[in-house]
Amino acid sequence: MTRVAKRYNIDYKKRVDKDRDTYLPRWSPGGVLYCRGCGSTYYRRRWTLQPPQEVLDWGAFRNEIRFALCPACRKLREHYPSGELRLVGVPAREEQEVFRLLRNEEERAREKNPLERIMRIQRDAEEWRVETTTEKLAQRLGRCVRKARGGKVVFKWSHNRKFARVLWQKEAAVE
Ligand SMILES: [Zn+2]
Repeated sequence: MTRVAKRYNIDYKKRVDKDRDTYLPRWSPGGVLYCRGCGSTYYRRRWTLQPPQEVLDWGAFRNEIRFALCPACRKLREHYPSGELRLVGVPAREEQEVFRLLRNEEERAREKNPLERIMRIQRDAEEWRVETTTEKLAQRLGRCVRKARGGKVVFKWSHNRKFARVLWQKEAAVE
């Protein structure tokens, strides 16, 4: 009796599951994925900024490398943020410094997890809006600004904990 191996449907976008990030692959690819957007590598259920040594060493892997878009690049392309940090009351003379702070902290976060990215920074006279690919990064950036610039940070979660709203204010609001 011969059984035909079932091919798994990897069209994960069609499946709906409220409790998980639908941008993370549900299947575990046998080989290696390489993001054609940011150059990060997916291997053994993890995205890394640089390919792990094991992947570099193992020449046979080259045949198994597939090009894809990582979840962060897809979120960027489809404009689907998971976190938002608002900065209220950034003094004009500190704008450059705050911008640098955010970019440096993003860089540090990416070294550990390349899926943590700033998607967009918008500024107007009243506030900044920083959109991030993960909830964690929005919180991390908020804490980073507080540490360097003082002020107050408030965290708010959506009911399913899949979207974080973070508010930093230079002057603590009157409660
Ligand atoms: Zn990418």
